[in-house]
Amino acid sequence: MTDLTQLGVKAIRDGVAGGDFTAREVAESFNAAVAGASALNAFIVATPDHALSAADAVDARRAKGEDLGKMGGVPIGMKDLFCTDGVQTTAASHILEGFVPRYESTVSRKLWEAGAGMLGKLNLDQFAMGSSNETSYFGNVSSPWRKEGANAAMSPGGSSGGSSAAVAARIAPAATGTDTGGSIRQPAAFTGIAGIKPTYGRCSRWGVVAFASSLDQAGPMARSVEDCAIMLEAMAGFDPKDATSLERDVPAWEAGLDANLKGKRIGIPREYRMEGTDQAILDSWEQGKAWLRDAGAEIVDVSLPHTKYALPAYYIIAPAEASSNLARYDGVRYGLRDLPDGSGLQDMYAATREEGFGDEVKRRILIGTYVLSAGFYDAYYTQAQKIRALVARDFEEAFASCDAILAPTTPTASFPLGENSDDPLAMYLNDVFAVPASLAGLPAMSVPAMLNPDGLPLGLQIVGKPFDEQGVLNAGLAIQQRAGFDAAPEKWW
Ligand code: GLN
Repeated sequence: MTDLTQLGVKAIRDGVAGGDFTAREVAESFNAAVAGASALNAFIVATPDHALSAADAVDARRAKGEDLGKMGGVPIGMKDLFCTDGVQTTAASHILEGFVPRYESTVSRKLWEAGAGMLGKLNLDQFAMGSSNETSYFGNVSSPWRKEGANAAMSPGGSSGGSSAAVAARIAPAATGTDTGGSIRQPAAFTGIAGIKPTYGRCSRWGVVAFASSLDQAGPMARSVEDCAIMLEAMAGFDPKDATSLERDVPAWEAGLDANLKGKRIGIPREYRMEGTDQAILDSWEQGKAWLRDAGAEIVDVSLPHTKYALPAYYIIAPAEASSNLARYDGVRYGLRDLPDGSGLQDMYAATREEGFGDEVKRRILIGTYVLSAGFYDAYYTQAQKIRALVARDFEEAFASCDAILAPTTPTASFPLGENSDDPLAMYLNDVFAVPASLAGLPAMSVPAMLNPDGLPLGLQIVGKPFDEQGVLNAGLAIQQRAGFDAAPEKWW
C-alpha cells in the first residue's frame, strides 16, 4: 500500500471518498509520523485521539452513504494560536500555559465540520511575534530542510513555523497558519510549501489569540495550490462574532482553479528590487515572470512608491495593537499567576507578566506602549497610520494597470537557527516583501519555486486585488505547474 503520509489534502479526501483507504488508516499513519518526529519540535501537544475520532466519524458517514465534507478524512495540524475546546491553547507562551479553552475558534470549528481531524497543536513564535520560530516558550522548531552538505538546524520561518515544518516534513498534509505581517507566506517560502493569506476579513478572528487585530488573518498552509484552495474554502466565511468579518459568500475556489492566464496582466513592482536581496531570489523572480508569460499573462511594470516605509510602519502599528491586546494577560483571567508572598494586585500583575512573557513579546509591548503614549502618539502612531493609507493607495493605483502582482516572498532563503536572533532589525527585514500586502489587507500567497544553490527552497509571492483569492490561486497554480517543485527534505529526524 502507498505511504499515506505522502498524500496531500485532495488525494486524501478523494481517496477516502472513493474507498481506496479509510480515514482511520490515514489518521493512524499521520499520528505515527507525528510521534516519530519529535526532533522537529513542530507540535506543542499531539492530539492523536482527536484525529482518530474525527476519522471514525467520517468512515461512519461513508458507510451510510452521507456527504463527507470538503475536508472529509483529512487530519491537519492546528497552529496553537487557535482556541480549541478542551485542548490547551498557549500561543507558545508561558503566560497561557495550562489554559484550556471551553470554546472552539470559528476557523477550527469550520474545519472540523468539514470533516477534518486534529493531529495536534503546532508550535509557533510566541504570540505569533517572530520570523524564525525562536521565540516560543516551548523551544525552537527545526526546519526539516538543511543546507546541502551541512548539519546546522535551519529556521522553518515564523511565526507559523510549526505549521510549515510539519507540512514540509510530511507529518501533516496541511496546517492552519495566521499571517499578521507575513507569518503564512514567509514560513511557506522557507520550507517549500504553499500558503495563502486571504483578504482581511475572509476568515473569522473569533477564538484566535489576538496579536494585531487590524492585520491578523488566518489561512491554510499545504503542499499544493489545490490543497490551499480546498482548505481555505472550509475556513472562510462570514461570522457575526467577528466585527471585521466580511459579509460575503465564500466562492468555489477549488472549482474555479484555472491556470490559463490569457488576458491577465501581472505587475512587477520596481521598488521590490531591494539591496541585500539574494541573487538566487532575483533569479527566481525572473523565472517566475517567464512562467507567468508562458501561462498567457502579460508582464507589466508597476510602481509601489511607499514600499520602503511599509516595514517601519508595520513595526509601529503591530506592536501598538499588541500592547493593547496583551493587556488582558494579567494573572487574573488566564493561565499563569505569580502572586509573591504578601504582595498586592499590582505586584501580581508585574510578577505574572515578567515571568509569563518572553523577551520579544516584552519588546513589542514596550514599543507599542511607547508609540501610543501621549507625547509620541502623533510622531509615531499617527504617522504610521498615514503611511498605511499610502501603502494601500499604492496597490489600488497599481491594480488599475494589472490584475495581480508577482514578487519574491522573502529577501533570503532560510537561515540557521541562532543566526539572526541577537539582531531584531535583521529579523524584521525578513518580512519586507510580505508586510505591504498585510497593511493593505490584500490576499497574498507564496508558492514554491525552486531550490537555491544551497539546496534550500525559495518561494514566489502573488498579491491580488481585494477579494480576488481566485486570481491569486490561479496565478499560483500557473507557477506550480511550471515549477514542478517536488523536492522533499531528506529525513534526518
Ligand atoms: N514576523 C512578523 C512579526 O514578527 C510577522 C508575524 C506574523 O505575521 N504573525 O511581527
